[in-house]
Amino acid sequence: MTRELPGVDVVLVGFGWTGAIFAEKLTAAGLDVLALERGPWRDTAKDFATTFAQDELRYYWRHGMFQETSQSTLTFRNNSAQTALPMRHWGSFLPGNGVGGAGVHWNGQTYRFLPSDFVARSHNEERYGRLPEGMTVQDYGVTYEELEPHFDYFEKICGICGKAGNLGGSTVEGGNPFEGPRSDEYPNPPMEMTFSQDRFAAAARELGLSPFPVPSANMSRAYVNPLGLQLAPCTYCGFCEKYGCGNYSKSSPQTTIIPVLMQRENFTLRTETEVLSIETAADGSRASGVTYVDTSGETVFQPAEIVVMCAYPLENTRLMLLSGIGTPYDPRSGEGVVGKNYCYQVMSSATVFFDEEFTNGFVGAGALGMTVDDYNGDNFDHSGLGFIGGGYIACHTTNARPIESHPVPEGVPGWGSEWKRAMRENFLKTTTVGVHGASMAHRSNYLDLDPTYTDAHGRPLLRMTYDFTLNDRRLTDHITPIAEEIARGMGGREVKVNALNGSYDSTPYQTTHNTGGTIMGSSPADSVVNRYCQSWDLPNLFVAGAGLFPQNAGYNPTGTVGALAYWAAEAITEQYMRQPGPLVQA
Ligand SMILES: Cc1cc2nc3c(=O)[nH]c(=O)nc-3n(C[C@H](O)[C@H](O)[C@H](O)COP(=O)(O)OP(=O)(O)OC[C@H]3O[C@@H](n4cnc5c(N)ncnc54)[C@H](O)[C@@H]3O)c2cc1C
Ligand code: SF4
Repeated sequence: MTRELPGVDVVLVGFGWTGAIFAEKLTAAGLDVLALERGPWRDTAKDFATTFAQDELRYYWRHGMFQETSQSTLTFRNNSAQTALPMRHWGSFLPGNGVGGAGVHWNGQTYRFLPSDFVARSHNEERYGRLPEGMTVQDYGVTYEELEPHFDYFEKICGICGKAGNLGGSTVEGGNPFEGPRSDEYPNPPMEMTFSQDRFAAAARELGLSPFPVPSANMSRAYVNPLGLQLAPCTYCGFCEKYGCGNYSKSSPQTTIIPVLMQRENFTLRTETEVLSIETAADGSRASGVTYVDTSGETVFQPAEIVVMCAYPLENTRLMLLSGIGTPYDPRSGEGVVGKNYCYQVMSSATVFFDEEFTNGFVGAGALGMTVDDYNGDNFDHSGLGFIGGGYIACHTTNARPIESHPVPEGVPGWGSEWKRAMRENFLKTTTVGVHGASMAHRSNYLDLDPTYTDAHGRPLLRMTYDFTLNDRRLTDHITPIAEEIARGMGGREVKVNALNGSYDSTPYQTTHNTGGTIMGSSPADSVVNRYCQSWDLPNLFVAGAGLFPQNAGYNPTGTVGALAYWAAEAITEQYMRQPGPLVQA
């Protein structure tokens, strides 16, 4: 039997980056907010202490902080002619679980998408003509200019360390000359660079490119954010990605928002409660609340005036499908919207091996790097190239964690004494130049419910049907040689190119930048939510996260995820609260 609780103003499904942002803004506006998080409570002092947080077996290999695949996972196939099988051990991406979500174990590379990324269809069609059949790229319905104040605020909450390249339309030396106009400089200066970044920047300049520091959520100095929370300087310990920071040096929901939130009387957090479905009122006009299950196995109905889905793109999409909200996407007809335009990221790299020079990759941080944007978005002329979009080319020094990182040159066997010798010789003398490419939406890539496999509660798993597209392959074929050219200019002994070949493989780690499935747009015919991230079907249901992206840009997503969350939270407090109902007429 399902127990019914007293209603609340707002219920948040999931309490990671976007959950924390919505909770802070909506409680500040006086609303009673309840956050439901399926994973445990996690905090810096108790859970990420530097004496044990650097445990590679626990966190990297045994996935100490990620969603447990024995409870719920997804099935995967490359195309709809195949039978999808469950992912029983995470590989390609690492969904978060617990307070802070993936915001605990992220790297902190915090970019803004380009102005043209938000108008990808209209911009590219105006410049290059009609996009190919099957490419379901579309505009967001919100512009960079509208999001700019929210990008700026998220950067201040996180204390992002970087160098502006475009202040109010004027180019600034040392920053990214291609970025959209910014209203303010980054709140903190860039991180200290190491040997690899200096070599990369020199080689890039030699090719006429414009290197700039990666915008970083790892602190270059002590910082107090607008909520009064203090971050400490990063020690370059190299245990950002896949780990919590015990040093209060990486911006996360725990370090930048949650301590303030926990003091507010109108905020409640319930951990270890998994939302099973969004419930709809009998007349179908609005969401009535959510049903969740707690660790005792009891199911509970939590009524709410507003529901915000903050459960990461994959689970947001699944919950919508399980709850029967919106029309599921049908790849045969191209109709329906929920699950449409699943996109990812197109990665390749060139590893440089030095003879004499030490790169000392263990002196690293998740967002320590130099990058160039000359081949990102529409920053270069695509005429005749047969693809749209691009990617940044960067030299990061994130870590040299011994279980995870073992770079060896071309031709070395994958195991045995020869491999060990090559490891010893090269471990401290390598660095990588990576391409982080965009992923454009295609009709054949989508999310739906699996017809066979179920989770621990007996509900269908999410099924992912995804492969790299012709656009992706042409993009990577064009940009990877440029990364190789920069790598060769860095003065090493040899360079090993790791090109993108074959079909998408869900086993090696690539990025946790899953996008689409609950996309935003200008019409209910081609999007799940409107420009304010509000469901077209149920006006008191809002959606957060990278599932909103109609296609993925050549950047890490969280800067744009954060800006969109602040934008939507403002729409709730400034517009919806005054006049509840659809904020855009269909
Ligand atoms: C290893 C790694 C490195 C990354 N590095 C970067 C980077 O450098 N730059 C960048 O921009 N991005 C990076 N990311 C991505 C970034 O972490 C995400 O974009 C961000 O955390 C997304 O925020 P979110 O609120 O949408 O989801 P999350 O922060 O993941 O929060 C979702 C929360 O919802 C909870 N939840 C899910 N389902 C339910 C349910 N049914 N009921 C209740 N709760 C539920 C989850 O447990 C989780 O806590 C990285 C991610 C990973 C894993
Ligand atoms: S590298 Fe810096 S930010 Fe990252 S975990 Fe270590 S101290 Fe924290």
